[in-house]
Amino acid sequence: MPLEIVTVPCLSDNYAYLLHDPATGTTALVDAPAAAPIEAALSARGWRLDMILITHHHGDHIDAVETLRAAHGARVAGAAADAHRLPPLDLALAEGDSVQVGAELGRVIDVSGHTLGHIAYYFADSAAVFTADSLMALGCGRLFEGDAATMWASLSRLAALPRETWVFSGHEYTAANARFALTIEPDNPALQARAADVDASRAEGLPTVPSQLADELATNPFLRAGLPEVKSALGMEQASDVEVFAEIRARKDRF
Ligand code: ZN
Ligand code: FE
Repeated sequence: MPLEIVTVPCLSDNYAYLLHDPATGTTALVDAPAAAPIEAALSARGWRLDMILITHHHGDHIDAVETLRAAHGARVAGAAADAHRLPPLDLALAEGDSVQVGAELGRVIDVSGHTLGHIAYYFADSAAVFTADSLMALGCGRLFEGDAATMWASLSRLAALPRETWVFSGHEYTAANARFALTIEPDNPALQARAADVDASRAEGLPTVPSQLADELATNPFLRAGLPEVKSALGMEQASDVEVFAEIRARKDRF
């Protein structure tokens, strides 16, 4: 049975996620931006929090970890590489490790780039990957610690997951990302259609996250940096994939 996944809006534009295994009653949380909305989502369903899965060290992803740990006695998991700047970890993880949520195993994927030590959690049976500030809907995180080659390698690992995988990212940035993406590929019909969908969803106050990996592959300029049509749109036919990715990221930083 797949995990039940609940999106919890936090702060101004963050998303946290509750993962609940109905068979065992186990509940895990991906990222802890703020305690109050997460506690409200838990109590509305009568769930206790068993585990907190941290993606990376930024405050808007970890500030409520200690409050929630104290309230629930939850175990805390995060990247071993970041243990020095995360709340104390009960489980220190690296690429290829697994975390168990009820009956389902999640695989840890190193998605460094936004930060070094950023990890994603991939639950194959639920067709869900939690990417926070690495791969985002129509975008990717800013390169604060890693370089373009590091982020490109991380995005390539995520791009290799099954196309039907749902991408649960950390922020509602999609409308602005769509406006930028259209500057890279104004004539991409899938992108034009998706940008209209995004605007319609936002006008109704609906989240645009999660998105399906197949749609990201068809529309997200940061995943498409290696494609001949994107290289030629930028006049970079001879450039490497990483060089094109770096150019798109630099343009987004100035957008
Ligand atoms: Zn971040
Ligand atoms: Fe963030």
